[in-house]
Formats: sequence, C-alpha cells, structure tokens
Amino acid sequence: MTRHSGLVPAGTAFPVLSLLRSTGRMTRTELVERTGLTRKVVTQRLEELIRAGFAEEGEVGRSTGGRAPREVRFRADGAHILVAEIAETSISVGLTDLAGTVVSEIRAELDPRSGPDVTLGRIESIFDSLIADRSADSPSIYGIGIAIPGPVEISSGRPIGALSVPEWTDYPVRDRFVARYDLPVWVDNDANLMALGELREGQARGLDDVLFVKVGGGIGGAVISSGTLQRGSQGSAGEFGHVLVSEDVAERCWCGHTGCLTQVSGARAVGEFGQLAATTGESAILAAISSQGRAIGAPEVFTAAAAGDPVSTDILTRAGRTLGSVVSVLVSGLNPSLILFDAGLVSIDDPYMTAFRTTVRGRSLPSAVSEIQFAISTLGNSAGLTGAAYMVVDELLSPSRLGLWSEHGSPVGLADLIHRAAERAT
Ligand SMILES: [Zn+2]
Repeated sequence: MTRHSGLVPAGTAFPVLSLLRSTGRMTRTELVERTGLTRKVVTQRLEELIRAGFAEEGEVGRSTGGRAPREVRFRADGAHILVAEIAETSISVGLTDLAGTVVSEIRAELDPRSGPDVTLGRIESIFDSLIADRSADSPSIYGIGIAIPGPVEISSGRPIGALSVPEWTDYPVRDRFVARYDLPVWVDNDANLMALGELREGQARGLDDVLFVKVGGGIGGAVISSGTLQRGSQGSAGEFGHVLVSEDVAERCWCGHTGCLTQVSGARAVGEFGQLAATTGESAILAAISSQGRAIGAPEVFTAAAAGDPVSTDILTRAGRTLGSVVSVLVSGLNPSLILFDAGLVSIDDPYMTAFRTTVRGRSLPSAVSEIQFAISTLGNSAGLTGAAYMVVDELLSPSRLGLWSEHGSPVGLADLIHRAAERAT
C-alpha cells in the first residue's frame, strides 16, 4: 500500500500562501486570525515565502489604534512556471506566473500518438523559444508542469497507459525534462489538472465537493473532495471512463477491456456511431455532410442534432444517458455540489447534456441532487495549463520540499534534491 501520493498541498506554508493568493495582501495579525496558526509559525512561514520570492513586504496597513501594521503581499510575478498540456490532436505550451495566469502560450497541431520522443521534443523546442524570448529582467523559472491525456504514476511522473500507444507507457516524462532543464518537474493527467485549474481560478473556486468530467476522445474525470483534488492511492482517482456499461460492444478498448463507458459516451465513439449512420443512410443529414467529403466526427453529430436530425439526437441522448448512469453512482458516493464539464465539445442544453442531467437527477437520491449544479468550464483551454502551474507551486510549497530549497532562494538547479526528498517520503 502506498502511504504517500507524493503530492501533498498541506502543511503550514500552504494555508498562509493560499490566503495571500486569494486576498492579494494581508497583515500578519490577519493571517494569524484566518489560519489559526500561531504568530511565530506565521512569521516563520512568511520569512520562507518572502525568501522564496512568493511574497513581499507591502505597504503599511490600516492602524487600529497603535502602530500601523505592515501588510504582506503575494507576488504572482515572483517567478515563472513552464507548462504544457498534451491533448489528443494538439499541444499547448506556455509560461505562467505563480497565480497560474498564462503570460505566453503557443499551441501546435500534433498527434501525440507519434510517440513521446516526437511530442516531448516539440514541447522542449517551444519551451526553449519561450525561454529565449523572455526579457533580461524576467523572473526565474521555478519548475515545469506537464498534463498528459491518461493516467500517470504521480511519484515517478510516468504515464501508466495513455493514448493507446505502448511507447508512452512507463516513459520517463519527468526525468527527461529534469535532465534537460535541471528544474523540478511534475506530471499529472489532463482531467486532474483541468480540475485543479478550475478549483483555484475557475468555477470550482471555493467549492469543497466537485466532480469534473472531460468528454474528449474518451471519458476522463477528476474528483475534488473537501476542497482538495483527490488523486487516490495510485493517481487514478476519477478515471471512471473504463467502467463496464455494455456487454454488446465487441471491439476492445485501448485499456484492454470491452464495453467501456468511453466506447459509448466518448467523442470518438459518438463520431463512429455518426459515421455508421451516414454510411447506412439512416441519417440523411449526416449522409449529406459525408457526401461533401467531410469525415463524420463528434462535432458533426452535434451539428446535425442541432439541425433537427433525430438519429444524431438519439446517438447523443444514448451517450449522455450512459454517462449519467455511471456518474449517478459517483454522485451517491461523493455528493458533489457541482458537476463541471470541460469546454471541448458539449454545451449545457445539447441532447447529450440534457440526457446526462435527466439521468443523474433521476437515478440519484433526491437529497443528493436537490442543490446540484451542472456547468461547462469557462476557463476553457487554459484550465489545464493553469492547473499544471498550480500543481508545481503546490509541490514546491509542500512541507517536505519548501525547507529544502527556500534557503537557497530558488529551486533552480535543485531538481535532484527536491525529487529525491519526495522519493524518500514515499
Ligand atoms: Zn477502456
């Protein structure tokens, strides 16, 4: 049994910085009151955070009678983080500040099934150009965060299985970036990092219990419980796309099973059902689109449904209903207040989401869904990059690591030390 996930945004530095981040500035007295920590601990943590570039002494605050207290300010611009998100047909590569705000971003078409060497090599060349384009007075780069479409072993930064390409499985993604940049590097799956981005800067901000659903080629998900992203014992929490939903699917899923949720409700499956309806002529609208030389994918099925095609509406209704029946089980276990979808494909009132909502409400205890909200991400494409940045910042500030590097002033050049400490703690 693994006793430590290697990712623990806890300890006493984290709540201090978290409050500074959300309010922008606070006095020491306010930090003591709001965190419940002693003044001595708050002062120690602030000294570490100031030394590490995350905070600075600000202006003199409002006096309440005696000497006016000095405020401490969060420094979003204290350092930069390199981030990359690998999607199913493209990559997004960027530079963020410490608040996860993307300060520069380059997107490129790329099929990650071309393998890790091609994909990561392209990310490295974009990282290099982003670094070269920075002005001389830019802050230091403190770390690298990478989002991968599939489960990741968090402690090693290696994909467990992704993209149905064997070369990715167990590929040393973290070690490759560490060797090249000598910066600490963390890797997680895309749905987890999108959910983390939403928790810190998006619609999940301030909420304790959220279920995040990603409708990509397959179905991914992430769980926020008690205000924290839950990765589970092996980093696979929320990966519900491969539960059995149908005995009728003969084709094998990339995961090795048959009848997976992904094979019924994922975008790839929706597109294939649509292509079949076009080929057989069952759907006149899809057949007409196909006759113009366009391949039928999920977007075409959504377009045809919006144009009144009953066959496309049925495909989407079945996909949404099946997803809803799986998610209703999770709703029973987690009682989320929000089910948040990524912004890639679905919209709130299309047949897919309508069937999903109806099923979740119909299959759950009334008390579990009476207040539940359904929403689509408004962070959109930047959710994963923002989440990747927060993962790096959270890790650098975790109690087992902050003390290792803060006395050096920055984590630059200390990647081995920082990662070895985490391995000892595992
Ligand atoms: Zn599967």
